[in-house]
Amino acid sequence: AAKGAGRNRFSYFTPALQVAALNRMRLTNDLRSALKGDQLRLYFQPIVHLSTGRIRKAEALLRWQHPQRGMVSPLEFIPLAESSGLIVDIGQWVFNESIRWVQRWRRDVHPEFQVSLNQSPVEFQREGGSYDVWLSALRQAGVPGQAIVVEITEGLLLDASTMVTDKLLQLRDGGIQVALDDFGTGYSSLSYLNKFDIDYLKIDRSFVRNLAPDSSDLALSEAIIVMAHKLGLHVIAEGVETAQQRDLLAAAGCDYGQGYLFDKPLPAGEFDALLRSHAAMLAAQ
Ligand code: C2E
Ligand code: MG
Ligand code: MG
Ligand code: MG
Repeated sequence: AAKGAGRNRFSYFTPALQVAALNRMRLTNDLRSALKGDQLRLYFQPIVHLSTGRIRKAEALLRWQHPQRGMVSPLEFIPLAESSGLIVDIGQWVFNESIRWVQRWRRDVHPEFQVSLNQSPVEFQREGGSYDVWLSALRQAGVPGQAIVVEITEGLLLDASTMVTDKLLQLRDGGIQVALDDFGTGYSSLSYLNKFDIDYLKIDRSFVRNLAPDSSDLALSEAIIVMAHKLGLHVIAEGVETAQQRDLLAAAGCDYGQGYLFDKPLPAGEFDALLRSHAAMLAAQ
């Protein structure tokens, strides 16, 4: 059939690639209906204050319960959401759910409770998309911007266009705080920590994984923590799985920890129950 397609026909259009492309197309279509059809779920993972054990922050993590495939990882569907443009509606859904829950937790658990949510670079940099809609949603719900932390990654700041700077300023003006996610995995140019107003630095899981007394990853983590504190940032360690990691981080002055040691990401309702029992426990102390 494909007459004249030439030799490249085989290298560019192999069955395996065809299957993968088809798969992506199907999944993208499914994602479109997932948004309408109530298949997205927002999970929350506690961010624990290391020296007191208090939980006054949580990260919102998106889940897709696919009717046939089961749970699809955000690492798989966020890129599809980005290339199809669905990321805008999905991000808005995540934001709306986040304010609904944080409003409740500020009322019932602690007045300064914060929810952090992720913004992928494509999402953050998307053309024309300002954060006006978010800020007016906050006003409407009567939730202060301080209730929300936006997690972005280093790469975004490296090629900081005026658009990126403007959006960061817009968030700031609305009171929304900013966290630098996966710190240490990107180019780790440190100059941008001064250039932009950032509130939290999240040490990537890859440093936490190999933490041991006298390890080079401990030395690196300690240096990151000291530097962050000097610049006025609070530090959150990601992927804390063992008591030893927690203890080493706490001894190094790390402010917060997040990871399976404390809890895995939980469906919102379960996380809500956890917060209530946690608050009761702390009150009884
Ligand atoms: P992230 O923002 O760095 O989120 C942390 C990831 O580490 C989460 O994976 C979380 O489940 C996982 N994690 C937490 N504690 C541990 C631990 O102790 N050990 C290990 N091995 N893993 C741990 P998850 O939920 O699969 O999300 C993956 C990534 O997808 C996130 O990385 C984030 O970049 C992205 N993502 C998730 N939700 C959203 C969203 O609503 N919007 C956007 N744009 N991206 C999202
Ligand atoms: Mg994150
Ligand atoms: Mg992270
Ligand atoms: Mg990560």
